Amino acid sequence: DIWSCDTLEKAAAYLRSGTPIHLQNYVSGAFISSDKTLVPFLDSFEPKTGALFARVPCTQSRHVEAAIRTARDAFPAWSKTTRAVRSGYLRRVSELLQENRELFAVWESIDQGKTLERARIEVDRAIANFSYFSTYILHEQTAARMIDGGGVLTYEHRSPAGAFALISPWNMPLYLLTWKIAPCLAFGCTAVAKPSEVTSMSAFLLATIFHRAELPPGVINLVFGDGPTTGAALVSSPLITGVSFTGGTQTGIAIRRATAHQIGKHVSLELGGKNPTLVFADALRQDTNERAIRVAASAAFENQGEICLCGSRIYVEESVYAEFLAGFVKFVQEAYVLRKTVGAVVSSAHYAKVRGYLTLAEQEGATFELGGVPPELDQQARESGYWIAPTVLTNVKPDSALLTDEIFGPVVTISKFKDEEEAMRLANDSEYGLAAVLLTADGARMRRVGEQLEAGMVWVNGWLQRELGTPFGGMKASGTGREGGSIRETCLPW
Ligand code: NAD
Repeated sequence: DIWSCDTLEKAAAYLRSGTPIHLQNYVSGAFISSDKTLVPFLDSFEPKTGALFARVPCTQSRHVEAAIRTARDAFPAWSKTTRAVRSGYLRRVSELLQENRELFAVWESIDQGKTLERARIEVDRAIANFSYFSTYILHEQTAARMIDGGGVLTYEHRSPAGAFALISPWNMPLYLLTWKIAPCLAFGCTAVAKPSEVTSMSAFLLATIFHRAELPPGVINLVFGDGPTTGAALVSSPLITGVSFTGGTQTGIAIRRATAHQIGKHVSLELGGKNPTLVFADALRQDTNERAIRVAASAAFENQGEICLCGSRIYVEESVYAEFLAGFVKFVQEAYVLRKTVGAVVSSAHYAKVRGYLTLAEQEGATFELGGVPPELDQQARESGYWIAPTVLTNVKPDSALLTDEIFGPVVTISKFKDEEEAMRLANDSEYGLAAVLLTADGARMRRVGEQLEAGMVWVNGWLQRELGTPFGGMKASGTGREGGSIRETCLPW
């Protein structure tokens, strides 16, 4: 029983002894067994071992439509429930997740390739997603204003919008999917949610939590499958009121295209990034030196660099470049390579993509300060997992794709800048605009530079800390729409 696997050892023993886990869609409050759905299955492999781990149904359009109709049918009653009732359900889900925290962390780590420590952080965030909106919904207020001098009161009335498609990527599967589901249900909408076909396990477990929390049938439905088949059918259905999507920019473009004629459909897109980290000389004073290096390193290598917010382009002020580089390489060697705190990349396809960029680095004559081109994955290597060592590149050509493309792996480039103006120009020289990290001890510079960076989020002397009430989202090719924040600033899913 997968629910008894609350350690990596137990889960590994379970996987060795049995057949791969067959995931099932959760529609209208019931798990749909695979023979009923008559769908092809996709194989899902464990990144750390390369072993076949789960079989994921690739839900076909007619079954997607059935799930959408279920969500539509459940909408009228759910949208009329009181805030207190919805808050209670969300609190229950958060409590059940808390009770099963370790189990979720174990399976997330197995499925995605991340370390168990990292998986625990993400499960905690999933728990917080439900508890946050469970409280938020009770205190939400809408504005009422008098027309100046007219004695007329105007007020805003907000009502739940309908059934939403919630689609998430493979890098932080539970964390990102629950960040969509929790507000959607809190504000009286219903949903059909689809995790990435590459990492579907935690969504399958989550369905059981919804079942145990006795959420009314149809309010939340989970369907599994790939983008072209399942995702495309989901977003384009006219019965879907809005789409909340997190994933790659090219997929965001495809979703915009597919929904362009449905004018009223809300579409929120959280897309890719190629985020800069700027290191100013004053950040390397004696007392802040270690922190600057630690922040830049974690922004580069946390979750194997598979976080949309990762700072994969480091720019360092010329005068401290050599000092920073030496300290950075030493730190990464000790904290990530020797202590093995970087997991495996998510799939063999992604391994090949990252390897392609490292081959390019070699061809272009970049310097590997750490790491190298990993071996091609032949059958034997495939069976020992998709491991890529933390890689630090310098002497990268200014027009190299290594500086423009989202590699999304444990790879960081380090380049120099002369002054503040050049730092900002280099940082903003990207089609993306998701996040940036600014390392400086100069208070005036924090605002001067921070506010001119073309990024939805700018961290100063830190990275990834998040207050859920702060709006989150990208600029330029990194997306449109905001998640979190006050209701007024967000476009979805309420
Ligand atoms: P992806 O775009 O390939 O897939 C994301 C999801 O979209 C998956 O569930 C996939 O099945 C689905 N999908 C694919 N094609 C579709 C289509 N035509 N219609 C509907 N759904 C479709 O992304 P990925 O490779 O899973 O994830 C990595 C990307 O996600 C990176 O670019 C990363 O930066 C981005 N990301 C962004 C954020 C953010 O908040 N901005 C957060 C995490 C990841």
